[in-house]
Amino acid sequence: MKANVFRGVERFGIEEVERPHAQTGEAIVRVTLTTICGTDLHIVRGEYPVKPGLIIGHETVGFVEEIGNGVVGYEVGDRVLVGAITPCGQCGACLSGQLSQCGHGGAYEALGGWRLGNTMNGAQAEYVRIPHAQANLAKIPDELSDEQVLLLADIASTGLAGAESGGVRLGDSVVVFAQGPIGLCATAGARLMGASLVIAIDGDDKRLAMAKRMGADAAIDYRREEPVTAVRKLAKGGVDVAIEALGSQSTFQSALRSLRPGGTLSSLGVYSGKLQVPYDAFAAGLGDHRIVTTLCPGGKERMRRLMSLVQAERLDLTPLLTHRFSLDRIGEAYALFGERRDGVIKVAIRP
Ligand SMILES: [Zn+2]
Ligand SMILES: [Zn+2]
Repeated sequence: MKANVFRGVERFGIEEVERPHAQTGEAIVRVTLTTICGTDLHIVRGEYPVKPGLIIGHETVGFVEEIGNGVVGYEVGDRVLVGAITPCGQCGACLSGQLSQCGHGGAYEALGGWRLGNTMNGAQAEYVRIPHAQANLAKIPDELSDEQVLLLADIASTGLAGAESGGVRLGDSVVVFAQGPIGLCATAGARLMGASLVIAIDGDDKRLAMAKRMGADAAIDYRREEPVTAVRKLAKGGVDVAIEALGSQSTFQSALRSLRPGGTLSSLGVYSGKLQVPYDAFAAGLGDHRIVTTLCPGGKERMRRLMSLVQAERLDLTPLLTHRFSLDRIGEAYALFGERRDGVIKVAIRP
């Protein structure tokens, strides 16, 4: 089969590799649609270590091709969506409802254990092996297209969870720092959760326009306006929930400074190096602020819920799929996505 194989820093591409077969508890999915994630860019740039020889990609839409022993309730030919994180469904973390922390080993170990395209061969291929298939194969309702569900696997599950973990309530004011794919989904999530004021921050005209389409009431361009001042003015003092969707010291700090006393900072960023909480932004510890983090919720029940939102026409992420490529041309797709050319937000890759 054809697959996008990582060979080293900036060395990757389509190769002919052996097709996987299902072992006990696993399934093989014939991929009909996948995408490229920001994490994949970090991998090919050598910023996120994975073993050379690994097939990249962790977003899977396709048909069940093989079912291993012990996997019940599925048939070959079922059309399925698989979340980016593939929890076991049986360990203490999973049974406590914290599926993205599967294994209770902490985020990094959990990622190391179960993540497609990180330690296991991934989805930018004609076929992908799904571990813990029983917990991870979510059947796609017939009326939904591949493109309608593709982004639920990772960015929507993560982005919407930013609003959920932040505990957004009816009538809340919410700011979302950074309107990349995940931030745009966080914006949509804040709206879905019932916020009455959703403020989107970015420095890219196309992304700010998309933020409005995804449900933002106000879009602030940080190149023109100091965002914290603008947010505090719009929210009359500070927001109830600030969602940080970039993973940098400056956006984290700005998110904290945007909060009202008692507000919640919901962080979706992955921080490398040092992250500091400035004591003044934290009101010296007297502000009753909450800081919460969320790693992409996975598992079939999460996917089912997200698909039900699409089916009920509460959520439409197809505008985020700005470009389409065949698997053979995935190199071009990485270049376009990596350099953020031509207004790209997400690319759809069809094997
Ligand atoms: Zn991802
Ligand atoms: Zn588990």
